[in-house]
Amino acid sequence: MKIAEVRTHLLEHKLDTAFESASMRFDKRVHVLVEIVCDDGTTGWGECLGPAGPNAAIVAAYTPWLLGKDPLETEKHWAVLYNALRDQGQRGLTITALSGIDIALWDIKGKHFGVPVSTLLGGRFRDSVRAYATGSFKRDGVDRVADNAREVAEHRAAGFHAAKIKIGFDPDEDLRVIAAVREAAGSDMRLMIDANHGYDVMEAVRVGQAAAEYGIDWLEEPVLPEHLGAYREVRARQPLPVAGGETWHTRWGMREPIETRCIDIVQPDICGVGGFTEMKRVADMAALHGIRLIPHVWGTAVQIAAALQFMAAMVPNPVRNNPIEPILEFDRTHNPFRQAVVTSPIEHQNGVVAIPDGPGLGIEIDRNALREFAPKGT
Ligand SMILES: [Mg+2]
Repeated sequence: MKIAEVRTHLLEHKLDTAFESASMRFDKRVHVLVEIVCDDGTTGWGECLGPAGPNAAIVAAYTPWLLGKDPLETEKHWAVLYNALRDQGQRGLTITALSGIDIALWDIKGKHFGVPVSTLLGGRFRDSVRAYATGSFKRDGVDRVADNAREVAEHRAAGFHAAKIKIGFDPDEDLRVIAAVREAAGSDMRLMIDANHGYDVMEAVRVGQAAAEYGIDWLEEPVLPEHLGAYREVRARQPLPVAGGETWHTRWGMREPIETRCIDIVQPDICGVGGFTEMKRVADMAALHGIRLIPHVWGTAVQIAAALQFMAAMVPNPVRNNPIEPILEFDRTHNPFRQAVVTSPIEHQNGVVAIPDGPGLGIEIDRNALREFAPKGT
């Protein structure tokens, strides 16, 4: 079996109502899938985190190193591609593009051997995971306080045990949002807050100190991801566990945050950190240092399926009779192609998501949806 073709599929949907995190504005949803086709007809799928067009361009740049090669040699391909752009790469688009390729190769490997990727990773510790609802962005034209409270109440009614809301806009308003959301969620729902690196140290410390009374599970990306010293200061000066890592790529990018304990919870994204190949290494490193790993997820059902395959095989740390289970980040914002790209949507039942058990990622792609959501003019 040889790699015959590497394709990318851009997906786009213009939103009726734009929304914002502290650092990004979304007026449309844009994602990119990677398809690797082999000479025997086997096809693997992956997804890249981040800007779709630039990721597609880097995937195209990597393609000459893949054509004609054995797709099962995932470790070898990772090393060759990483080395090919290392001198100008190391993090960012070079790694998010590599992630999509790596995931597609693991999908092919699973299909070739007739097993889910979780089996290839060493076996399943679980067949389902609890999901937490991600949303509560700042939407155009609405009052954030009431809007976020209403949204989290809906997540609770839908069966979610936990929800994450967006902060990092303004500490005073953020604290009003947190109070209203806790009121709406009730006392027993888990709540997390995500600043999307919108604060400086003084703001993050103040919000963390004041938010503690509302029972917050973690404070995510409080400060800029480049400022590891600021992370350590935030962690030392306020009581909430600190989470982060969706923009730290590869084992090298993760090493200092983990070794110097910038975070209590590390959140690599499988479509950003370097695919299954690198995610496994990062998980081992986190476990070695006693840091909890909860993957970041922000993409289509392809990304969700990849995260689920990885989570199925995550070794509990510590192994014990009633282990700490990973939870799935489940994006609840509007995205009509998120589940349309697969023939069997990956949905939750009362806040629990079953992990697909078919070969590879365990999904089938709906090519009609790829055409429907292709950017107009392509
Ligand atoms: Mg986040």
